[in-house]
This record gives sequence, C-alpha cells and structure tokens, in this order.
Amino acid sequence: MRSYSLLAPAKINLYLGIVGDRPDGFHELVMVLQSIGLADRVTITETTQPGIHLTCSDSEVPQDDTNLAYKAADLIYQRFPEVAKRQSGVSIAIDKQIPMGAGLAGGSADCAAVLVGMDLLWDLGLTQSELQTLAAELGSDIPFCVGGGTALATGRGELLDPLPDLDNLHLVLAKYRDLPVSTPWAYQTFRRTFGTEYPTTPDAFIAKQQALRSSQMLRAIADRNPDAIAQHLYNDLERVVLPEYPQVQALRDRFEAFGAMGTMMSGSGSTVFALCKTASQAEGLKIQMESAFNDPDLELWVTQFRSTGIQIL
Ligand code: ATP
Repeated sequence: MRSYSLLAPAKINLYLGIVGDRPDGFHELVMVLQSIGLADRVTITETTQPGIHLTCSDSEVPQDDTNLAYKAADLIYQRFPEVAKRQSGVSIAIDKQIPMGAGLAGGSADCAAVLVGMDLLWDLGLTQSELQTLAAELGSDIPFCVGGGTALATGRGELLDPLPDLDNLHLVLAKYRDLPVSTPWAYQTFRRTFGTEYPTTPDAFIAKQQALRSSQMLRAIADRNPDAIAQHLYNDLERVVLPEYPQVQALRDRFEAFGAMGTMMSGSGSTVFALCKTASQAEGLKIQMESAFNDPDLELWVTQFRSTGIQIL
C-alpha cells in the first residue's frame, strides 16, 4: 500500500489589514503571511476499504467529514471521478501539533497537506497553481499553506504574490490552551464595530487597498530588515480581540516588557507571537514568560520562520 507523510506548517500574520466588505460577504484583506516551524504531520495511505478514513491524535479535532483534511480528499474524489473509479479508499492520520482556534491556520495546513498527498498518491500530476486553485475552493488560507514561505495575500487571502524569504528570524508563540478565538466571530465583530469606517465608493475602496499595500512592512521585507519588520507588525483584528480577551493583551504586554523585537497577535488569535533575532534569545524569552505567568494552561513554543509550505517527509 502506498503511503506519504507530509509536514504541514502553521502560519503567522506579519500584517493583516482589512480593506472593507466584498460583494460576496467576505472581507477584502491585505496580509503578509509567513510559514513557521511548528507543524502537523499528515500521513495519507491507500486502503483496500473504500472511502475516506480520518484519525487525529487530538480528540478535540473533528474526525468526520467536517474536518478540512477530509474535505480535501473528498474534493479530489469528486474532481477526478475516472481516477477515483480505479482507486479504493484512503486513510488520513493527523498528528496534531498546531493548536486549534489559534490563528495559526492549523486546519488549513492539514487540508493543504491532503491535497498534495492525494496528488502524489493518485499520480495526478497537478501543478502548484492547480493545487492552489483547488485549495481556494476549500478556504481562504489554504492556497498559501500549499506553497508557504513569505507571501502577500490579497482578496479573501487566496490571491498570492511571493515575497523574499525571511528564514533567519526566530519567534516565541504563546497561547492559552483553553482559549480559542472563533475567526468568524472576530471578523463579524470587526464589521459591527468599525463597519462605518469601511470605504463606500469604488474609488475609496481602491485607495484604501493601495494604502494598505504600500505599507512599510512590505518595504521592510523587500529590504530583509528584521528590525523594520518587527517595528511594522500590524493586525486590525487586535482592535476587537484584545479588548474582549484581556489574557491575550497580557501576553502581548509581557512580551513587550521583556524586550521582544516585536510582538503581535496572529490572525484572529488567540496566539501571540514575539520575534527574536536568535534562537537563544527566543529560548530566554520563553523561560521569562514561563516564570512570569507560571500557569499550566499557558503553552509556549520556540520556533523559526520557514521558507516552504507542505513538505514530503
Ligand atoms: P485560521 O488562522 O485559519 O483562522 P485557526 O488556527 O484559528 O485558523 P483552526 O485550528 O484551523 O483555526 O480550526 C478552526 C476550526 O476548524 C476548529 O473549530 C475545528 O473544529 C475546525 N477544523 C476542521 N478541520 C480541522 C483540522 N484538520 N484541524 C483543526 N481544526 C479543524
């Protein structure tokens, strides 16, 4: 039986600007996405038993057809019926390392890994761009998770422009185990709170989009300047998540007080990350955070930027 093991890295947002409402009900975004070393491991194997079979090391993660990894396999079955007729079943085993509801795109990463894994298992010969087109049908962050690295993401997050690699930066991630933040809640609350600031004419919409795209973050990345990157971290969703979740604000405040180069909430939270120039600075910062909070519910990871997305192991 053929089998592939894939590494499915998490992402952080170095930048997340909300332009306004799109006609399809989603928000128009300008984001800088960055792959990191924290990753799930997804193993996909041919089975004689027909159908899609999914297991996950974390019992909190749905193990039915609502799992994004399941949806990825299902989409491939639907899109390639002729190949599917010659195949039997597949089993998907997820070794979960990326926390759920963390703003780290864990579900999207697993989904991207299954698209890549099914392509290999069934010898479909899909290009990266074809895989990303399929990925966009399943969710906004999934096309990025396929290729990974550093990218400018616009539209709903599915339109990608690669940016120079930044694999020399280290980071500490902090998240309370029992504190997930719902992504739909964060965007809906943002709209309710700041919707009156959204552009109302096409010209104003384009002007705001251009302003966000010419952010200093993009200049800092083009220059591969870690200090400037740390200085220009930005996330609009902090405006709604931090007031609602003071614990997240407290993590951010401590990172700042302990002298992190820069700190920011990732995506819709609840993970906060802090950038460091070296691995030993990141280890030191993690230890400071552990003793400052002394809370078994607080999880901390030291990791670094990655220049690739899904990787075959
Ligand atoms: P994002 O940054 O893309 O908003 P997130 O890190 O906040 O993502 P996820 O951990 O990807 O959130 O998952 C959010 C929801 O998706 C969970 O409530 C979970 O029920 C569902 N889900 C579906 N498939 C998966 C999966 N493979 N891993 C984790 N969660 C999954």
